[in-house]
Amino acid sequence: MSEGAAKKEEKPRKFQAIKGTRDLLPPETALWTRVERIAQEIFTSYGFGEIRLPIFEQTDLFARSIGLETDVVSKEMYSFEDRDETSVSLRPEATASVCRAYIENGMQQLPQPVKLYTMGPMFRRERPQKGRYRQFYQIDAEVLGGSDAPGIDAELIEMVMTFFERLGLEGVQLDINCIGDKKCRPKYVELLRAELSKVKDKLGPDSQRRIETNSLRVLDSKLENEQRLIEGMPHIADHLCEECAENYRGVKKELELRGVKYRENWRLVRGLDYYSRTTFEITAKGLGSQNAVCGGGRYDGLMELLGGPPTRATGFAIGEDRLILSLQEAGKTPAAQGRDVYIAWMGEKAYAAAIRAAKDLRAAGLSVEFPPVEQKFGKALGQADKLGARYALILGDNEVASGEWTLKTLATGEQAKLTEASLLESLRKGKTVSS
Ligand code: AMP
Repeated sequence: MSEGAAKKEEKPRKFQAIKGTRDLLPPETALWTRVERIAQEIFTSYGFGEIRLPIFEQTDLFARSIGLETDVVSKEMYSFEDRDETSVSLRPEATASVCRAYIENGMQQLPQPVKLYTMGPMFRRERPQKGRYRQFYQIDAEVLGGSDAPGIDAELIEMVMTFFERLGLEGVQLDINCIGDKKCRPKYVELLRAELSKVKDKLGPDSQRRIETNSLRVLDSKLENEQRLIEGMPHIADHLCEECAENYRGVKKELELRGVKYRENWRLVRGLDYYSRTTFEITAKGLGSQNAVCGGGRYDGLMELLGGPPTRATGFAIGEDRLILSLQEAGKTPAAQGRDVYIAWMGEKAYAAAIRAAKDLRAAGLSVEFPPVEQKFGKALGQADKLGARYALILGDNEVASGEWTLKTLATGEQAKLTEASLLESLRKGKTVSS
């Protein structure tokens, strides 16, 4: 069969984005850019520097840091054997990579703590639903090294709350908890396990299993029929050692000093051993069941687990997709970005002037639409309207000959005759794309 015949038989195939992934399109992307720009501004004002990380790492890095028993590692990672037969995975979160980078780049030699932020896509093979995707985006901040002074956790929380306030995020609720440390937590976990075992047969299969594997995680349960039983369990706050209790009091006092409102939530836990003391979660309006927009906490034991020196650390991850969803639900979408100027041109001489005008206006920061082929003025003005342009610059042979160009304000239909120099001047004045 000739190549041509083979091609004929092949039906063109339509491709679709993979389940749980999606395209982000304009004008929505303008909101993403705005969110990221404000994050950069605010985080910079708190002394954070940006770190950019690889999107894939050795699978082992995540297995160690997130934990083999977690859903993320046991069933949600996109892993594959690289050619040299090492297993690599698309990153499901950023903290592990930030710690690896801290150790690998000798950042413990820098003045401590080192404050870093990063943003970008993460990958988890979860069941997609509103606010839950397989490729989603996080904005991450970590404070590495230094002490565990309550002011560090409080300032980190203040920073993310300031960010949400600047964005106008609605229905923001901050929950905090203290989960103790290596000294006091094991005793509490033992007590919790004993209490949970007493009611084991009244719990569902997931919780039953977790009593043995990770009893703290039972407190996370959202199952309606388990709530009453869980509410009756002992609270960790009553079992903290004096240092942890003191630290928790300090964090709360620091939050109050900073005017940050919080709610204590004793069921907010992290199931892994290297987490300690402060944990927090922030929820927002308009998101249904997936309403957590930010999760964070202290992880003083992680760096050692990854072969680094003992290093205190705390951080958070914001779910950017959910943040954007909540802003959209509240109508905080920026107006679609129209053009400032549409250049309606006709004739060869006008074309040369139009090229010049487009260059000058763009250099002055205006958004300019410049049609590549000549159109009748009526059609050009119709196009300008459709694109939401504010002005149409009308350039025909008459305008070029007289040196007086016509500027039409599309909303009012008003027309003004201006020389090339004065026209550019009047458009430049405060009418830039970003205004
Ligand atoms: P985690 O890394 O699991 O602590 O998650 C931190 C934040 O990332 C959560 O509060 C969510 O806002 C967001 N997030 C986690 N998983 C997903 C997902 N599959 N889709 C969208 N956002 C997610």
